[in-house]
Amino acid sequence: MDSKTSQLIDLQEQAAKLYHHILVNTEAGEPALNYLHDRGLTDETIETYQLGFAPSQRLLKPFFDQHESDYQLLRQSGLFIENAEGELRDRFTERAMFPLRNASGHVVAFSGRLIKKADDQPKYLNSPETPLFNKSRLLFNFDLARPAIRQAGEVTLFEGYMDVISATQAGVNNGIASMGTSLTTEQIYAIERTTDKLNVCYDGDEPGQRAISRALTLLGQHSHLNLSVIQLPEGQDPDEYRRAHGDEAFRQMLTTAKEPPLQFNLRFLRRNRALDTDSEQLDYVNQIMPLLAQVQEPVELDMYLNQVANEFHIDKAALQAQLKQTQRDSA
Ligand code: ATP
Ligand code: MN
Ligand code: MN
Ligand code: MN
Repeated sequence: MDSKTSQLIDLQEQAAKLYHHILVNTEAGEPALNYLHDRGLTDETIETYQLGFAPSQRLLKPFFDQHESDYQLLRQSGLFIENAEGELRDRFTERAMFPLRNASGHVVAFSGRLIKKADDQPKYLNSPETPLFNKSRLLFNFDLARPAIRQAGEVTLFEGYMDVISATQAGVNNGIASMGTSLTTEQIYAIERTTDKLNVCYDGDEPGQRAISRALTLLGQHSHLNLSVIQLPEGQDPDEYRRAHGDEAFRQMLTTAKEPPLQFNLRFLRRNRALDTDSEQLDYVNQIMPLLAQVQEPVELDMYLNQVANEFHIDKAALQAQLKQTQRDSA
């Protein structure tokens, strides 16, 4: 690690320490601490993730000034916003702070969450890209999760930081998340170096379902990972599920709600479709044929064909004939 990198990391880690101190030891941190407790996080979890609070008044700038930190270094840290005169002011204010660590466990950036609703501000605010922080490369919690991923032989990919943290609190330590943006190939390669099995556990809402579909496509194209989808009840995210049903039910859900990607895709293609006319049903069947054509296992394929035949009262032989045709067309 060159000296500039280690100096930049040092700044991030000092900031994390300070945000954490404000959260747990000061009166200014009380609303945020209450917020995190109300969200079901224990003090142990708050310690593990070194969660913090950026108060309303300026915090980091005076602190680093006092320590005579280098101005150019501060500028590059992403912790400040620079005005036209080149003056630096704290970027994060009135937010619960989530340190983002790289794979070696060093803090390289932050995500700050509003603790009160404010319509004119984004719910989560991330550090900008810096020499330390590339959001398409970072996987949240990868450093802590890696031993658990190796031990479990699989990783669970969540949508949000809170889902990962919530899972950890339920004793599920092999969870990671991408950075709010969709999954990238760099992240996929990093995962594939650690395990060969991945569960996608995104939110049970429309954006979450669309994100699963996109993630599965990308994972299918760029990895040999053995994939599953963990399907949440409509409208719930993993953290909400744990809060509603408890840790034990949460752990259960992660195993029982597991399904193969194909099963997910068949259901995804039906979303928001009535399928109550012949032409809609025909349309659906035409869309799923290319998916079925990829099923290698004869028994599994037969199961799906039976499902479709029964549900839409289609002759199974006709389905098989169309499947053959689809296979020929794509060959
Ligand atoms: P919470 O439970 O705190 O509301 P969440 O994880 O359920 O958070 P979602 O709205 O489901 O939040 O979004 C999933 C992820 O997308 C977040 O963890 C965050 O990484 C990212 N994200 C959400 N909203 C924003 C935003 N306004 N700006 C940047 N990233 C965001
Ligand atoms: Mn979501
Ligand atoms: Mn969510
Ligand atoms: Mn949530």
